[in-house]
Order: sequence, then structure tokens, then C-alpha cells
Amino acid sequence: MIQSLTGMQDIVGDEAKKYNYVVNSAKEVLENYDFDFLKMPMLEKTELFIRSVGGSSDIVNKEMYRFIDKGENDVCLRPEGTAGVARYFVQNKLDRQPQKFKFYYHGSMFRYERPQKGRYREFNQFGCESFGEESVYEDYAIIEMASAILDKLDISYKLELNSLGCKECRPKYIESLKEFLRDKKDKLCEDCNRRLEQNPLRVLDCKVQSCQAEYEDAPKITDNLCESCDTDFRKLKELLDNNSINYEVNKKLVRGLDYYNKTIFEFISDKIGAQGTVIGGGRYDGLISYLDGKETPAVGFGMGVERAMLLTSLPSTQNCGYHLGAMDEEALSSIISLTKSVRVSHKATLEYKPKKLKALLKGADKANAKYCVVIGENELKEGKVWLKDLVTKDESTPTIDEFLNSIK
Ligand code: ATP
Ligand code: MG
Repeated sequence: MIQSLTGMQDIVGDEAKKYNYVVNSAKEVLENYDFDFLKMPMLEKTELFIRSVGGSSDIVNKEMYRFIDKGENDVCLRPEGTAGVARYFVQNKLDRQPQKFKFYYHGSMFRYERPQKGRYREFNQFGCESFGEESVYEDYAIIEMASAILDKLDISYKLELNSLGCKECRPKYIESLKEFLRDKKDKLCEDCNRRLEQNPLRVLDCKVQSCQAEYEDAPKITDNLCESCDTDFRKLKELLDNNSINYEVNKKLVRGLDYYNKTIFEFISDKIGAQGTVIGGGRYDGLISYLDGKETPAVGFGMGVERAMLLTSLPSTQNCGYHLGAMDEEALSSIISLTKSVRVSHKATLEYKPKKLKALLKGADKANAKYCVVIGENELKEGKVWLKDLVTKDESTPTIDEFLNSIK
């Protein structure tokens, strides 16, 4: 028997309903904020991710599904969505246009990680990116949108916020961080020693307790911001305060991807264990120029759909739609035609074999239908249907035309 690959899952039944519920809820929010849907390829040139996500990141170093295709191209399955959106943006010269562009996307991402609850090798992200807006109001709007999605799904969260500074203030800060770390090398884990060389900011995010203890007194980026970053960070906090979006500044928050600057944030739940980050995002004004585009301000987020699914429940389903059946062979063809008409505008289930009334009603119950529609010998003769509302228990026998008009 052939089994699915480790860390890859089929989503079916109520879980599939939940998947649609999460994605559709997020879509509704994004459409209200005037974002356009962008459907992208799942396979891209490996170089795209090396240049955007960053050669020193775990994703590129350890987690990519990378191979050489039959045309000798070095390609990989996308590990995240932002790089693809940015590639599309530059490829279509949108960086040369004055207007702002806002996209959302969703679908499978692939990372060769150790599977566990909330962490899979194929998982789904719902994400969005806003290009061309440098105002911190957009950072706020993106956070507001993310919180609106979680509110809609009735998911409680803690919002953690930080600023990573910009190319003015970050290099200076990194120098002082390096200075601070210089004589601590021996006490740090292997990963942190590597990070120290390649991307010192990331040490702050280390999950190893003893490393964290060392970083308690490390200089913090938010205490070293330039004036413009500091003003924006204050403004952002003020906007969140004014609109009752609760947050905590986490001075050690950095994100796994290299391309962020200024605002970064995570929406975290404490109900799903270690894999608690449901939404992560921030600003990445440098990304478009890493991909040879004209420098363009950009801000966005990515939501882990499976993690949101772990935290939400499906709204209770009410009886809906029609269950149709015939009581004898002769009425079958009429009920099949009638079902076709009903299905133009309603959900309908159909019994393929003639059955007794009791059995048809039982079928309607099982299908969770609101109405049961039956054609028996008498109804067939008179051009009528027998109709029962399974919630109110009302029964009637309208003509077929009357029935079809009533459900339009
Ligand atoms: P984590 O710290 O949990 O590894 P990350 O920083 O790697 O997350 P991002 O690259 O920012 O995550 O991806 C955005 C979101 O996608 C995450 O917040 C999470 O909800 C989800 N996600 C990331 N990796 C996985 C995975 N392997 N399986 C399921 N969901 C994931
Ligand atoms: Mg990760």
C-alpha cells in the first residue's frame, strides 16, 4: 500500500469544511480592504528564494524541496509566498508604476521540517502584500486586517510587536550587538555561533534557554532606533491603542526571514503548544530591490491555515437545502428533472431509487436538509409535489411550477 509522504496530509470531511471556512473568512476580510487575488506557481527558480528569503536563513539552508528539472534548471517548491509575489511584481514592472498594489494569495507551501502538531512539510498559507505605501498607517492597516481575520474566526491571540529599524539605524545597532556578544561566544549554542557571523540579529530568537539567559542584557534595537523609525513605531503603537488592538512590545522579536525592516509582528496563541504563531508579518522595504526592482515600500503577513484550523471551530450548521425522492419507478424521471432545476440555486440531494415516504424522510434527515420533496403516484398524475419543511413540520402539495417559483 502506498502511503502519503511524511508531513503531508489529506484534508477531508469536517477538516476540509474548516479549511474552506478559514480561507473564505480571510478572503472576505481582504476583499473589504481592496486586495486582489494573485494565484502563483508553486515551483520557482531556487535563486528567487536565495535572493529574497536569504541564503543564511533556515528555510533556504535546510528546508527547501530543491531539485534540478529536466531542463537543467535549479528549481524548488515554494517555501513561502512573499518571494513569489515580489517576483511577479518586478517581472511585470509594477515597480515602475505610480499606483499602489495590494495582493493576497493562498495555497501550499513546502518546507522539509520535522513534522509535529501545527508543523507539516506541506502546509497552507494565506498571505497578503501591500506595495508602494510607505506610511506607517499601512503597517497599522495590515495588523488591523490580521486581527480582523482572527476575530472573525473567534481565535484569541497575543499580538507581539517590534521594530527592526532601517538601513540607517540597524547597522549601528548590529555593531553594538556584535560587540556585546564578542566575549560570550563560548557560552552560546552552535546555531548562535553561526548566526553571529551570518545574521547576528537572529541570535535573539534562539530557542535555547541558556542562550536566552545570555541575551537578557543585550542592547535592544528599539532603544537604538533612528528618529524616523522611532516616530513610526510610536505612531503605530498609538494607532493600535486608539483602536483597542492589544499588543505587547517584544524587544527580542525577530523573524525567520531576512527581508524585514521596521515593523514586525506575530499573532501568537497559547493553545497549540510550541507552534503558537498563527500569523507573522511586517515591513520589507528592501525586498523589491534585492530582486532588481526599483526600491518599493512593502508590508504584509502570512497566516498558517492549519494553525488557524487548530484554533477555530466550524459555525454550527443549520438544516439547509432540499432532499428529493420518488415513491415509484414512474416518478423517477420527473424527480431527476426537478432536482436539476432546484440545483440551479440551492443545495439538493437526490435518491436514485424509489423509496417509501418514511425512508425518504429519513434520507432528508441524514442529509441535514430543510425540505423534503417527494413525487408519488398521485403527485405525478396531478403535476404536483409533496413538500415538507423539516424544521417547522409544515406540509403542502404545490404544483411543480408553484414550487419552483417559490424557491427562486
Ligand atoms: P515558525 O517559527 O513556527 O517556524 P516561521 O517563522 O517559519 O514560523 P513564517 O515563515 O513567517 O513562519 O510563515 C508564516 C506562518 O506560516 C507561520 O506563522 C505559521 O503559522 C505558518 N507555518 C510556518 N511553517 C509552517 C509549517 N511547517 N507547518 C505549518 N504551518 C507553518
Ligand atoms: Mg519556521
